Amino acid sequence: MDKELLKAAYSPEDFRENGHQLVDILADHLNKTRNKTSSKVINWEIPSEQYKFWNNFLLNGKPSDLNNEILKRSIHLHHPHYMGHQISPVAPVTGLTSLLNAILNNGMGIYEMGMAPTAMERVVVEQLCKEIGYDKKSDGFLTSGGTLANLTALLSARNKRAGNDVWENGMSNKLAIMVSEEAHYCIDRAVRIMGLGEKGIVKIPVGENFALNTALLEESYNKTIQEGYEIIAIVGSAPSTATGIYEDLDAIGDFALEKGIWFHIDAAHGGGAIYSSKYKTLLKGMKKADSIVIDGHKMMMMPSITTALLFKEGQDSHNTFRQKADYLLQESQEEDWYNLAKRTFECTKYMMSLHWYTLLKIYGKELFDEFVTTLYDLGQKFGEILEKDPFFEIAVKPMSNIICFRFMNKDKDLHSLNMINAKVRQKLLEEGNFYIVQTKIKGIIYLRATIMNPFTNEKHFKELLENIKRKAILLLNV
Ligand SMILES: *Cc1c(COP(=O)(O)O)cnc(C)c1O
Repeated sequence: MDKELLKAAYSPEDFRENGHQLVDILADHLNKTRNKTSSKVINWEIPSEQYKFWNNFLLNGKPSDLNNEILKRSIHLHHPHYMGHQISPVAPVTGLTSLLNAILNNGMGIYEMGMAPTAMERVVVEQLCKEIGYDKKSDGFLTSGGTLANLTALLSARNKRAGNDVWENGMSNKLAIMVSEEAHYCIDRAVRIMGLGEKGIVKIPVGENFALNTALLEESYNKTIQEGYEIIAIVGSAPSTATGIYEDLDAIGDFALEKGIWFHIDAAHGGGAIYSSKYKTLLKGMKKADSIVIDGHKMMMMPSITTALLFKEGQDSHNTFRQKADYLLQESQEEDWYNLAKRTFECTKYMMSLHWYTLLKIYGKELFDEFVTTLYDLGQKFGEILEKDPFFEIAVKPMSNIICFRFMNKDKDLHSLNMINAKVRQKLLEEGNFYIVQTKIKGIIYLRATIMNPFTNEKHFKELLENIKRKAILLLNV
């Protein structure tokens, strides 16, 4: 065997050449998507056609076309008409840190498998804790996504607040967690994974403003206790995913303190507002939380996925997973902050801190202020435009960069309006000039825009609304 393939696959010169080409392709792509709004956000194709293409490409495609085809067949977050799901158009430098990470591929589980990024992670975590207002006892780590971070936080909560040591003895008591009915579905999933079942999720209704109704907490708590449950935690959303409304963290924090239960904040989307001089007040009371989740890949301009999980009592982050794995983790007397797999769900994880640290080093934390503040300002602006337009109705005045609205016509009933709005959204997707999504709240279908691109502007909003209006009016008469 002459191992020609291995030689080719590891060739530094091929890497250099292909890498330069790819960077050129991507830089052109960024330039085009940002400036020429005539190119599409998405070239929509149905899943079976897409599958057919790639199946065929593997046999007949030219390798030199591969990257361009991927590009053409992906959604373009850097396009100012992208206003869909909550994921960052990344700061391009984090594409480079991704490359660095990919080639070095340090596994991060223990200190030796990522010395620099482990220490960088600590620096980043300390920065975040300081912005939150936590004191020196706080600590945390980076982990793979908000979903996993929320589960990890709730496991810590169970560890600390459940009367029985579930980690050692398994479940014996009936445990429950209180959460807003508008919380992200991953909280529900985490609670079920933990074995608490349907009844272990105590859903608190939201008020008019779609935020957890804190007036109902006491009653709901008492009722659940009377049914024989032990409540271990309450979760606040900052903001909730569907409507982008921040809940009253201050009040939820006080309630948790009074009852002696764990207070967790799911700030996957909006935690980045700690850096916004203008919008930080939305997070008032956040330092009362025992744990907080912040996604880097949502409002902090980083690639997916990288999430910070922060603890008011750093010690709690060391107690979540008490486990021996002698080949990897040795027992030590002191808490070894530098062996991260002792505290994270993952064993191997990627060098996430490279993105966070590099952005802080090159641009400073003011970058996050500019990003979050710009996007939340745009959210307000879009809300104002919608409020003035008689063809539209907003679900609630936006508090962040998430806006739920619908085409409105007084002569049509709920069912017809739901149909029209859903069809408009489907047509927008197929046309590909704008990307927004939809959501259903209390039986009403809303169009949902999340302004993720700081270069989206008022002109784009107006074009989008004109486009929707044209489509909806055509549908009114069918
Ligand atoms: C996006 C989101 C999540 C899920 O986070 P992932 O990083 O996608 O796993 C959880 N909670 C809220 C409030 C979110 O917005």
